[in-house]
Amino acid sequence: MEPTQWNPFDQYVSKGLNAPSGEKPPERPMLATSVSQSRLITPPVCSSLPSFLKRRAEQKAARQDSNAKTPEGERREMISISVTFYPGSTLDSLPSDLVLLTSDSVFFYVHSHKLLSASDNGFNAILPRGSVQVPGGTPPLLAVPEDSTVLNIILHTIYNMSAAQFSPATQSIVAAVDAMATYGIPAKSYIAPSTPLYLLLLANAAINPIEIYALAASLDIPELAVDASSHLLSYPLPSLTDELTAKMGPIYFKRLVFLHLGRIEALKRLLLSPPASHPYTQICGSAEQTALTRAWALASAYFAWEAQPDLSITAMEAALYPLGDHLVCNECKRLLKERVTELAMQWALVKIEAKHEFVCRLVLKREGRFDVRHDIDLESVCEL
Ligand SMILES: [Zn+2]
Repeated sequence: MEPTQWNPFDQYVSKGLNAPSGEKPPERPMLATSVSQSRLITPPVCSSLPSFLKRRAEQKAARQDSNAKTPEGERREMISISVTFYPGSTLDSLPSDLVLLTSDSVFFYVHSHKLLSASDNGFNAILPRGSVQVPGGTPPLLAVPEDSTVLNIILHTIYNMSAAQFSPATQSIVAAVDAMATYGIPAKSYIAPSTPLYLLLLANAAINPIEIYALAASLDIPELAVDASSHLLSYPLPSLTDELTAKMGPIYFKRLVFLHLGRIEALKRLLLSPPASHPYTQICGSAEQTALTRAWALASAYFAWEAQPDLSITAMEAALYPLGDHLVCNECKRLLKERVTELAMQWALVKIEAKHEFVCRLVLKREGRFDVRHDIDLESVCEL
């Protein structure tokens, strides 16, 4: 089948599968919007498809015949083929010479040389070195245990394309990255910043940060771990599973814990200093200013007990500004406002510093210069 023949099939089948009859089709091409999960299509069997597909279709048709209640004209055999990796695609200058069949019975037409060049183990030893083409021009079929969503991500990665438009679930992306090891594909080299897979993982970090963090940790990709960690400040550490803890390993687990504890400790430190005092006046002496200091201490104790690492500046200001509501001294009000503003700025900086320290520690660890058993002078290394 030629590419020019294939596209009309795509659109025809997609419309048939997804658009209710009589409903006006969307303006965007169906292939871009119609199949949200895996964007797979099910074209009719045609004479140019490999013989195994035709056999499968014939067997299914025979089964239908035996129970048949479907009118003759409506009987149609369908198979599922990837919309990206289909026969006659222009993904490579050469025609596809291999068909992969997933566990959910979707066919992917691929190029064996692409798979072999990405893999260091012959794609889990299922591909022979050299040409896989068999006499007669029919591409061989290989079954893989992954489902179509997972294989779709793996293949897009190998072809250096983004699978983001398929909106795969985080679990599928993680499964795809994990499966790459099986197929001898060095996932880490495909997850450098700005690569399609990195960007896909980054987008999912906002949704499932702990999954992405654990994956980044397991592959030792500090950049991705740091980006994911920025979404983990509100993550409840007690809910961390043994599986994820084991996956991220002790160093990245420690970083995550210290990211939380470090911010809370920093907040406690910042809260220690009360608003400044001023020279006594007729309306504001020692007793009045001591009352403000005491109120500040009470508020500090509340934060120390209740605060979460992701405490927002807005929440902080909303809790501290009301301390001035009952003050009659304008100078005390001004000093309180000044102190809260200063505290908000310091708290904003803590996040930046924590991230900086996080990066420094991970870089040191990657370079073999960081021993988790000993503290080191971070001041010096963070200036590198
Ligand atoms: Zn005062």
